[in-house]
Amino acid sequence: MTREPVRVARCDSHVHTAFSPDSRQSMADQCARAAALGLDAVCFTEHLDFSEQSRGYYCPQAYFSELQRLREAYDGQLKLLAGLELSEPHQHQKELEWAQTQPYDFILGSVHYWIHGLFPSQMQELHMDVADCFARYWDEVLQMARCGGFDTVAHLDFPKRYFRVLKYDPAQIDEIFQAMIKNNLTLELNTSSLRRGMDETMPGDALLRQYIAQGGQYVTLGSDAHKATVLYRDVPTAQAYAQSLGLVPVWYEKRKRRTLAL
Ligand SMILES: [Zn+2]
Ligand SMILES: [Zn+2]
Repeated sequence: MTREPVRVARCDSHVHTAFSPDSRQSMADQCARAAALGLDAVCFTEHLDFSEQSRGYYCPQAYFSELQRLREAYDGQLKLLAGLELSEPHQHQKELEWAQTQPYDFILGSVHYWIHGLFPSQMQELHMDVADCFARYWDEVLQMARCGGFDTVAHLDFPKRYFRVLKYDPAQIDEIFQAMIKNNLTLELNTSSLRRGMDETMPGDALLRQYIAQGGQYVTLGSDAHKATVLYRDVPTAQAYAQSLGLVPVWYEKRKRRTLAL
């Protein structure tokens, strides 16, 4: 019997559960919340990190097994997508190549750790120069975009969530967008900064407009929820905003970009 495919109009493409080292929320709880919100799809993009605290935490066997169980439970109601948020994929080629062989629907590339593997909150504790931290962050993002091999660049201006300012060289941002477009990488619109008292998504208006000016067309949308209470938070607003700029909201299935049904 062929089943009507789920029409995907409401999707959160960046969600964590206890399969990530920094979330305690069960995948079952995230699914229950997604169903209660009337979402069509949710993508569990667990962290694969290489920091001292996180290394070895992620267990793909357990992840795929629980995902399969929940896919059966929510069959026909809620599409559960297999995702991965890979930290610094350009520095972890072996893991990136491994991820490409696994049944993921979607792979996010993120720069979380840079300058001797520090996280931005650690850079703050060390009172490191913010301008320098940003400059070296963008160098890493450019290398990641040039490397490619994943689907979407997560939270492009991530350090602003910690440093509460944003510093960049527009010419370097253009280089990043050009490399992304060349490597068929999509830009993420991440709403987690709005829950942390900032007035802009990651990235915000200026960088989005620069993306469009460089020929960028597509965005994925994600809450980056580590708790069920914030699943899909601010995503509809971000989506409407992206559309108002002429961007096309997309999601991924089997590593293929699909347009959200509107
Ligand atoms: Zn992240
Ligand atoms: Zn995340």
